[in-house]
Order: sequence, then C-alpha cells, then structure tokens
Amino acid sequence: DQGGETLRFEAEVAKLLSLMVHSVYSNRDVFLRELISNAADACEKLRMKSLQQPDLLGDDPDFKIVLSADKDGGTLSIADNGIGMDRTELVENLGTIARSGTKAFLDGMTGGDGSALIGQFGVGFYSAFMVASSVEVVSRPAGSDEAWRWWSDGAGTFQLEPVPLEEAPARGTRVLLTLTDEAKTYAEQATIERVVAEYSAHVPVPIVLRIGGDGVGEKSLADGSALWRKAKSAVETSEYNEFYGHVSGQYDEPAVTIHYKAEGRHEYSVLLFVPSMKPFDLFDPERRGRVKLYVRRVYITDEADILPGWLRFVRGVIDSEDLPLNLSREMLQKNPILDAIGKGVTNRILSDLDKLAEKEAETFEKVWEAFGAVIKEGLYEDAERRDGIYKIARFRSTKGDGWRSLADYVADLRPNQTAIYYALGDDLDAIKASPQLEGFARRGIEVLLLADPVDAFWVRTALGFDGKPFQSVTQGSAELDTIPVAEGEAETDAASESAIGTLAALFQQALGERVSAVRASSRLTTSPVCLVAGAGGPDRQLEKILSAQNQ
Ligand code: ADP
Ligand code: MG
Repeated sequence: DQGGETLRFEAEVAKLLSLMVHSVYSNRDVFLRELISNAADACEKLRMKSLQQPDLLGDDPDFKIVLSADKDGGTLSIADNGIGMDRTELVENLGTIARSGTKAFLDGMTGGDGSALIGQFGVGFYSAFMVASSVEVVSRPAGSDEAWRWWSDGAGTFQLEPVPLEEAPARGTRVLLTLTDEAKTYAEQATIERVVAEYSAHVPVPIVLRIGGDGVGEKSLADGSALWRKAKSAVETSEYNEFYGHVSGQYDEPAVTIHYKAEGRHEYSVLLFVPSMKPFDLFDPERRGRVKLYVRRVYITDEADILPGWLRFVRGVIDSEDLPLNLSREMLQKNPILDAIGKGVTNRILSDLDKLAEKEAETFEKVWEAFGAVIKEGLYEDAERRDGIYKIARFRSTKGDGWRSLADYVADLRPNQTAIYYALGDDLDAIKASPQLEGFARRGIEVLLLADPVDAFWVRTALGFDGKPFQSVTQGSAELDTIPVAEGEAETDAASESAIGTLAALFQQALGERVSAVRASSRLTTSPVCLVAGAGGPDRQLEKILSAQNQ
C-alpha cells in the first residue's frame, strides 16, 4: 500500500518485546495503567503547549481518555485527545531508539517477574504485548493534517503507513489491542472497571468507558480531578497509593505521604511521596528528581529540580498558585518563587521525616535503609539543612545491631570523651574486624561504622554535632589514654618505656620514609600494629577512594 513500510525494532526493544510476549507475568493488569498513564501524559503535554498556542485545541478544549471495549471482537482501545505523535515520534518512541531504562529493565528481569518493574523503566508502552497478539497505534499530532498508523505483532518488526484523516482521531492517539485468547477478560466491563479503579482512578484527566461499539453506552470511570487539591481529610490511603503509582511509575506502596497546602507569601499544594522501593536510577550520576511541577492544575514539567539532589527519590506533585503559566526553560532555572517553594518543601519533608522517626521508628528506619545513603549527600552539599539531617541520620555502630542516632551516641559518651568516633570502610563486617577498633572497645567507646561511599565525603566537612567533633579512629587521638578502661576489661601490662622506645626506633629504621612516625599506642589490644593517619591528615578510607578515582 501507498507509503507503507516495515521497520525493524532496535535489538534491545526486540528482546524486551519477546519477553513481554513469552514470559508469564503475575500481574498483567499493569498494561492498562501504563497505556492510560501515557494517554494522560499526552493530554497534559498538550494542555501545557496550548497555553502558548490556544488554536491547537480547535473546538475540542476538554481533554479525555476513552476506553472502548468490544467483547465479541476481543479488542480494547485506549484513545486520548492529547498531543499525538508524528511519523518520526512513532518510529523513535515505539521501537527504534531503546530508552535508557530498557537495558536496565532487561537486566533486572533476568529470570524474574518484571511486572512490578515496568513503569519506572520507561518501557510501559511495550507492556501492551503482555495481553495483545497485535497492537495498532493511530496518531495525529495536535494541529497537524497528517496521521500515521503503526502496527506490530511484537515479532521483530513493525509497520508504518499514512492513514486518511477520516480513519484517524481528530487529534491525539488511539491504541488498539487485539487481545490474546488468555487476555480476553480485558474486553469486559467488570475487568476494566476493576483495573481502572485500582490503578488509574486519580489520573488528572477524565476517563470514560464505551462498551460494545458506538453509542451503546458511555460510563465515567474517573473524573480527572486533581487529588492533590483535595483536603487531606477527604482522601483515603488507597487513593493516595493509587495516585502514587501514577506519578512514580512504581508498583510499591509509598512509605511516607506528605500532603498539605502552603499559604502565606507563596501559595501551593503539595502531594509528595517517599517510596518504599529504591528507584532503579537512584545512583545515576545525573541525580535528577522527578517531582512534577503544576501551575494552577496545569502540568508544566518534571525537570524543574525543585528539590535538592539529596531528595531525588521523592515523587509527586507541587502545584503553584503564583507562578506564571508561560514558564520558559530559563525561567525555571532561576526563579525566586520556585526557589522559595523548594526551600519550604524541603524543610517540610525534613520535619515530617523527623516526626516519623520519633513516632514510628520502624517505618522511618525502613526509609533510612533505602535512602539514607542519598540523604547523607545533603550533609556536605546543603549546609543550611545539615543540622536537620544530623537529627534524622541513623548509623550502625559498635553498640548493638540496631540503628543509632547522633543523640543516642552523645548520650552514651564515656568519661573524658569529647569526640564522636567513626570508622570508615567498604562494609560493616570489614570495619568491625579492624584492629583500629580494639582500643575503643576496651574503653567501652562507641564507634560509628560508616560503610556508604558517601560517608568518606561528609565526615570531611562535618563540623561536629552538639559541640563534639567527628574523629576517625584511624587518626591520632590523644584523649584515648584519658578514657578509663571499661568494666571487665583488663589493664594491659605496661611495658617499660625504654623497651618500647628501642622497638619503635627499630621499626622506624626499617620503614624509613614510608611512615612519618612510629609510636606506642593504647588503641590496640590483641593486634600488634596498625596504620593510622596523622591528626591533621586525611582519613585512610578517603585516601583509598580518592586514589582509586585518580587511577
Ligand atoms: P514513558 O511513558 O515512561 O516515557 P512508555 O514506553 O510508556 O515510556 O512510552 C514511550 C513514549 O512514547 C512516551 O514517552 C511518549 O513520548 C510516547 N507515547 C506513548 N504513548 C503515547 C500517547 N498516547 N500519546 C503521545 N505519546 C505517547
Ligand atoms: Mg509510559
């Protein structure tokens, strides 16, 4: 046919599709959430673009998503009147350019059940092939008089051809699924209603369901109202959780939900979530956040980085009353209102986490376990919040197996102890086995065990907590001798000073330039020797990290 052609999927996409087609997924419902999410995103993108170009909306200013099910024919379509895709976008978005998450998804999936991973890797569209033997996408960009049809059965290639305008939606995208025999239930009203209620009831675009072809009946499944603008008392936990799924693309439940309206100098609504599962790109060097910025209910961008990098795991929506709607990229970068909102929200998140730590220690510790390593980045890059972060920071230590706060540590100082001691290392067991800790154990001095890579950095700039400096166990410390031995620990035999002096001189001779001094030490009990840094020198673990990076 005229202008039609067959194109090959990019290799990684083809692999992904074959997994979608052939693997057994515990939860196939997710395909519908993914397609509805895409439809809603497309509507929000056009809503935003139409602020500058109102004529893009023509005589159809009301956005909606229409699900049409045909039980007898075994098909389901998801249509939106959003921004649409032109030919190039169809080719790139749906097949030839693997998205950054594709490989990560494939790696994460090996042998496992990927249905919980799909959304967050940006591979949502392909989940259609979990339930469909073939997928047709017809799309017409807003304002364009060209429409294109994309079709594939998921087996290596897809077809592309222009379609006459009368066969295309007036604007936007229609995804038509021919359901496999095992997935026919997704053409049934009850199933669709159940899945939408569970996953998509609060997407910010209305959803209607049409059953059995034209004009038979239309039912509203979701009103498209903005959940974040409702009063907290009017929202159920299940509604929060469902909305969290939509904004995060994840399938876990939020560990913390923060919902409030700020009034005063700036007015804005906030609905944010701390996930319980780590997003896959948590340690990407880009450190991008994904909080969505709205202005008076209109989606603007998720690239404004309103929150600092050390809160990049937070998901959700901030909706401003005061910002202008026509925010350009440059305006987003240096905007005093946005800065003020970012500060206000950051402080609120910190104080909510602090409250959680006090009231529900266990829930908080789970959050800390997942994101503590990221939050600690704030200790060296966000001087203003350092004290707030010290308050919620939790550490492993030589005292028991649980989490310890700095306040716990300071409350248990030994007589004459003035510093907070820490030991850096690659993992807890390695640190615990270090001979450096022996003298501390003997004196009953607690040592914080710091095993996250970020620890080597913040301790360097840390000014101390509660007036107590942080001090590495590998650095010389004079005060150790003044701290009494713990009960039940034997005093070691004091060797004669002259004997030690002779031995130290022998060592010094043998090691020459490689050490700056050889000293007798009270930090060891069973091990004969250990290496320490000078009092002012860098920590040994940091030296190791820095020299590894310079290689
Ligand atoms: P993600 O939504 O995370 O970007 P998807 O695999 O779900 O990943 O979609 C890939 C891309 O295809 C989207 O980013 C979008 O550009 C495009 N797309 C998918 N569905 C639609 C749609 N209904 N309207 C417009 N663009 C769409
Ligand atoms: Mg998507």
